[in-house]
Amino acid sequence: MPEKQLLTDLEQIAALSIERGAENDLFMEKVRQLDPAMVDSWVNQLNEKIAPAIDCTSCGNCCKTLMINVTDKEADRLSIHLNINRSNFDEQYMEKGSNGMMLMNAIPCSFLQDNKCTVYESRFEGCREFPAMHIPGFSKRIFTTLMHYGRCPIIFNVIEEMKGMADV
Ligand code: SF4
Ligand code: SF4
Repeated sequence: MPEKQLLTDLEQIAALSIERGAENDLFMEKVRQLDPAMVDSWVNQLNEKIAPAIDCTSCGNCCKTLMINVTDKEADRLSIHLNINRSNFDEQYMEKGSNGMMLMNAIPCSFLQDNKCTVYESRFEGCREFPAMHIPGFSKRIFTTLMHYGRCPIIFNVIEEMKGMADV
């Protein structure tokens, strides 16, 4: 069977996300009825094939569109990396979310330059994890993962291939 062409065009992915809303709801229902361990093995297998074939440095869409939650420890680490004191760091880069957690205060992220993270070694956990396709428990996270289907080419392409496996 010929390899499926990966789609990386962010505008097309965003448009397809709107078009395929009902199909994605059906996919979510289907996946929730399947064995979670089997689903994780599909995701793992597809992620290992798809993630290396997508160049995050020519995309950067997560850093341009997401507000990342930040813990005290992460803020401490980055303020040390930037050599500024914590209160200046908070004032410049942080805000309080409705849940009381700290969030980065800018979209796109202030640390993104030419599609690259300028604080890569000290970036936040949320940045390290996204799009979290390597983490077990996909079935439990499917709702939040689908929220990023129209934004992240890795998620989009993994899910499109999974639909065939799940007969959607
Ligand atoms: S800290 Fe770096 S990886 Fe995280 S959102 Fe900003 S630019 Fe992206
Ligand atoms: S993780 Fe997804 S949204 Fe972020 S840069 Fe890579 S492909 Fe783009």
